Formats: sequence, C-alpha cells, structure tokens
Amino acid sequence: MRIVLLGAPGSGKGTQSQRLVERVGIPQISTGDLLRAAVAKGTELGRQAKEAMDSGRLVEDSLVLGMIRERLGEPDARRGFILDGFPRNLAQAHALDRLLATLKQPLDAVVQLEVDSRELVRRISGRRSCADCGRVFNLLTSPPSGANAVCPKTGVPHRLVQRPDDNEATVTERLRVYDEKTHPLIDFYRARGLLQVIDAEGDVDDVTARLAQALHAPALRSPRRRPARKSAARAKGSRRKAAKKTRAARKPSRRAAAKVARPRRPAGAAARHGKAPRATRSARRRKGARR
Ligand code: AMP
Repeated sequence: MRIVLLGAPGSGKGTQSQRLVERVGIPQISTGDLLRAAVAKGTELGRQAKEAMDSGRLVEDSLVLGMIRERLGEPDARRGFILDGFPRNLAQAHALDRLLATLKQPLDAVVQLEVDSRELVRRISGRRSCADCGRVFNLLTSPPSGANAVCPKTGVPHRLVQRPDDNEATVTERLRVYDEKTHPLIDFYRARGLLQVIDAEGDVDDVTARLAQALHAPALRSPRRRPARKSAARAKGSRRKAAKKTRAARKPSRRAAAKVARPRRPAGAAARHGKAPRATRSARRRKGARR
C-alpha cells in the first residue's frame, strides 16, 4: 500500500503512521523526521533546512524533493510506504505524482486527519518523543504505558523530549502555513478520487480503527484494474461468472486491507474477513451439521 497521511501539525499523523507501520509492515517516511535527523547530524542539508524549521516555515522544495527521491528509492519502500508530512504544497504533490509515475507505483490512498484547531494546539503542547527511539507520545492523549513504557533501543523507560518547534510562536506559524500551503492538497487529491477524510479526534485507538477502515476502500478500488474486470466479464456474457471473477480479482487487495484491520478483530472474524473461501466452506459444514 502506498499512502499519504494529510493533516495539520498535531493531527496525529506521526502517531497513526507508527501504528500503521506495526500493522501493515511498510515504512513510515516522515520528511520532518528526516530533516530533524539531518539537522542533528549537522549535514549540509540539515544546515540549509534548520532556519526554516526553527521559524515554522516550509523547507525549500528542492531540498525536500531530493530527500524524498532518495528515500523512495530504498529497497524497503518497494513494498509500499506511508508518507507523513509530505507533500506539503501543490508543487510537491505534482512532483510526487511524476516521481511515482516513473517508479510505476501510483498512490493507493490519501487520508486527511481532521482535528479542530483548538484541539491541535492542546495536543501539540502535550507532544513528546523519545530521544533514543523517536517514538511519539502525548502526555495528554497517549502517554507511555504498559509494554510501550520501555524504549526498545535502550531497554529503560523512554527519555521524553519536546520538539524545539513545538513552542507557541512557531506552532502559530506552522498552522498558518498549513492553511495556506497544505490545505489545498485536500481538493487536489479529492479531484483524483484518492481522498478519504476521517475524524481524528477522540481516543487514539478509535482513530486507528477509523483509519484502518478508510484504507479498505481505496485499496480495493484500483482505478487501473477495475474497467478490465468489467469488460472481461461482459465479454463472457455471464453475470455469475463475472461475479466470481470479480471476487477472485479483488482477493489480494482484500487481504491487504484485512491486514490493516486484522489485529483489532477477534480470530474468528479475522478468518472470515481475510480468507473468504475457507470461511464459506466452514459455513457450509456448519449448515450441514445442523441438518
Ligand atoms: P513535521 O515534523 O512534519 O511537523 O515537520 C517539521 C518541520 O519540518 C516543518 O515545520 C517544516 O519546516 C519542515 N518540513 C517537514 N516536511 C516538509 C515538507 N514536506 N516540505 C517542507 N518542509 C517540511
């Protein structure tokens, strides 16, 4: 699956991306994280990006695009990816389209995480990340707890730090930049039939469940495969055969979609959703047993 997560700063893109990584097993590509790493390492890219980041402005497109091109070329991105914080303006969205067309890897879905602006500010003030493993927490909504309280890198409790650009003045500027430059991407992706909008307020688990549900439809609606299935079915002139073929053609995408939601379902339901033919046979057996 190739996914873009859109949303204002504080909408939970990082948190939800990390949860998707655990469930789907594809990498999260966060331009913010890549840029922060470059700044921390003191590379030339980091040096050029730092001033814009510190003031809440966007880093120059050419720098971000070079970074993304390189990252999408890495082997783990061939299985799919979750883009978090990229694209951030229309020029980046067009450049991403061109790049993915060259790689023959079009996007499957774009999900917009909707959060009220007062809630965004509240969330950003509680946001912390582990200085060692980078995991994002929120002291108000998703503090470290249980198995997640220990850093997988150090084996001791997470060392929580606040991002330097999560201060009040920079946050105000980042929200303004989002409205001006990033918000237009909602219409851009809606026009391409890729956009899903979800309510990203409330319990973090509920948001993950909504995200998983939203990702089913685009994964099943592959715009390139759908007409081919229809015309093949019509050529055969049999509605029954057509239905069978459609089910068969959809199977891999369904399985991929089920993979997103499966951890949240009880085992029986997961089997039904993930492996339809086997469940149908067992349903027949149950029916036979009742007779
Ligand atoms: P984020 O962690 O996504 O909130 O990004 C932190 C900062 O990194 C932003 O405020 C920008 O200065 C910069 N940044 C991240 N992604 C991009 C991008 N796609 N284009 C330009 N600047 C970016």
